[in-house]
Amino acid sequence: MLSSKFAVIPKDIDLDNPSEELIKGCFAAPIEIDEPSKLVEYQKHKFDDEYPDTIWLLVTVTMRCNYKCEYCFQGKHDNGINMSGDVVQQTIAYIKNEVDRNPNLKKLCITYFGGEPLMNMQAVRQISSFALEYTKEKGLEYGAAIDTNAFFMTREISEEIKTLGINQAQIAVDGFENFYSSTRKVPKTAFQRVIQNIEHSAINVIIRINVTKKNVEEVKELLKYLYNLPIVKEKRAVVSIKRVMVYSNDPCAGDGGCRLTYLEQGRTCKLIEGHFKQYLTGYLKYVGLSQSIADTSNTGHH
Ligand code: SF4
Repeated sequence: MLSSKFAVIPKDIDLDNPSEELIKGCFAAPIEIDEPSKLVEYQKHKFDDEYPDTIWLLVTVTMRCNYKCEYCFQGKHDNGINMSGDVVQQTIAYIKNEVDRNPNLKKLCITYFGGEPLMNMQAVRQISSFALEYTKEKGLEYGAAIDTNAFFMTREISEEIKTLGINQAQIAVDGFENFYSSTRKVPKTAFQRVIQNIEHSAINVIIRINVTKKNVEEVKELLKYLYNLPIVKEKRAVVSIKRVMVYSNDPCAGDGGCRLTYLEQGRTCKLIEGHFKQYLTGYLKYVGLSQSIADTSNTGHH
């Protein structure tokens, strides 16, 4: 990923002629740019410069998902596929090769991504087991995280993934029951189920709030609610706020203009800051508006 920004791209966008905003936001590139090699070069330099002794990998174990969130880039979740057994083996071989060819390596970090990664636990188990054993054998540090909607993250599953070296989950909760179920196309009971799973999590949690015009008011109450969860009070969970913006000059682009548009972002930022000021200066000191506090999984979309 070229950026940790998060946006909704209007459906009718002309991808052959991307707008300036899309290019500036690193969501599209002019046709003459060789994106794959740019991406490799960018990531290599980014991580080589920032973490010369660490390998960071984002592993998408499935494109399947039990949710259908409005803002999800995956789109056709019903047609999503799991990472196959062959690709799991190739991923393991890739990790081994990367570890072996880097004599200065001190740490390996993996983030499991999707789709909903808990829908392919077999791949998570296989890759994690290898990574755990191999880093131990090589005397390296190992850390892993998961981006999940947490619907399937029962206490048992969180305990299991903890034994697999996954010590942090990023989970998005953008509103209460009604908002949550209508924007994610899930039953109303899903919200409480997810909150319960967060509460009983055996691993640390980043609760991610994606803010749009639709939920900007509700988020104030949501923050109060989340703050009162024991897991947040005990500092085993933190809250991270991200704006969802449309990178377009059209104020009606993307779901009837509910997203925070690029052109009005200055005004909107002020509005959001006004809303959340009391929390920012008060008890929710961890919350960041433009920058997620997450030090892993910054590409998260759940
Ligand atoms: S955003 Fe995450 S939870 Fe929602 S549909 Fe996409 S993959 Fe599933």
